[in-house]
Amino acid sequence: MHVIYGGTFDPIHHGHLRLALEVGDSLGVERVDLVPCHIPPHRGDTGAGAEQRLELIRLAIDGESALGLDERELRRAGASYTADTLRQLRSELGRDEPLVMVVGTDAFAAFDRWREWRDIPELAHIVVVRRPGADLAPGSEAQRLVRERQAQSPQALWQQPSGLVLELDPPLLEISATGIRQCIADGRSPRYLTPDAVWQRIQALGLYGACPDRRV
Ligand code: ATP
Repeated sequence: MHVIYGGTFDPIHHGHLRLALEVGDSLGVERVDLVPCHIPPHRGDTGAGAEQRLELIRLAIDGESALGLDERELRRAGASYTADTLRQLRSELGRDEPLVMVVGTDAFAAFDRWREWRDIPELAHIVVVRRPGADLAPGSEAQRLVRERQAQSPQALWQQPSGLVLELDPPLLEISATGIRQCIADGRSPRYLTPDAVWQRIQALGLYGACPDRRV
């Protein structure tokens, strides 16, 4: 089974890292791959560049064999579309290996606005992680998909290559990248929200308005 977990990771933090480990444990896989995506231009210029986000992720997962980094979306020219990534992975893995994408309810709520979203359940299973304050709207496509394709257990995902939706409710850390960026921009320390190595590198690079002179 191949498991990917996409996001902007701007920057990566302990909420992402714990979630990836929790989901990996629940599914019984050896590794979950983080897949950072392009940041749409409308997000503004407060964030880090693609290479910088990659570097921060590498620092965050260094020495942790249960977490991997898949750089394909940032290596691809132009926007990243989940359907393209899944299609590429499917052709690499072959027809039969289960492929799983992990997504929070906040991102999944707008699933029917993703490009070629109808193809996605045919390419992969979807693990939807419930995030507080981000319930799926009643009657939405996202909720319909969960209901129609619901997997009863993580084991069911091992039985077929794609097509099921599994809802998970693991313990989550109340951390957001937006909160971290805000904290740094305000001149406060985000220590313990993200690994020390990440915070040190953010400071060294002066990212998110960090002052390069201040150290942890
Ligand atoms: P931002 O605040 O910039 O929107 P974020 O912290 O929510 O960022 P993203 O990179 O947008 O992080 O999220 C990637 C994925 O991680 C999404 O599926 C999101 O639901 C999930 N996620 C983000 N923060 C957490 C957290 N603290 N715990 C569990 N999942 C999270």
